[in-house]
Amino acid sequence: MSDCLFCRIVRGEIPARKVYEDEHILAFHDIRPLAPVHVLVIPKEHVDSMAHLEPRHEAAMGRLLVAAARIARDQGCTDGFRTIVNTGRVGLQEVYHLHLHILGGADPLPPML
Ligand code: 5GP
Repeated sequence: MSDCLFCRIVRGEIPARKVYEDEHILAFHDIRPLAPVHVLVIPKEHVDSMAHLEPRHEAAMGRLLVAAARIARDQGCTDGFRTIVNTGRVGLQEVYHLHLHILGGADPLPPML
């Protein structure tokens, strides 16, 4: 998926404000934040969406969730945060590279974002 926006961010072809990176995962600030903390956490391996997950992705998704919890904590969201995974047309997914939104930094967050 060489032309995927988030794959290009992974390769450093498009700049992003990174907050975490390891061999498997990248996290960066959303370009249009909807909350004081709005970070996107992505697997470096391209997966179109949550609807495209297969059993072979189980370990990667486990790593993604555990990393997201640590990233939220590191961003100061110690009293809670919201995670969102938009999926497909109905889920209003804009970028077709699976990503987890972390929203926080307001107390409380608005009921819906
Ligand atoms: P989705 O609706 O697919 O779940 O959300 C995609 C998110 O990616 C949106 O919140 C949007 O603001 C963010 N986004 C789109 N393009 C870029 C970009 O080039 N850089 C960053 N950092 N975020 C982006």
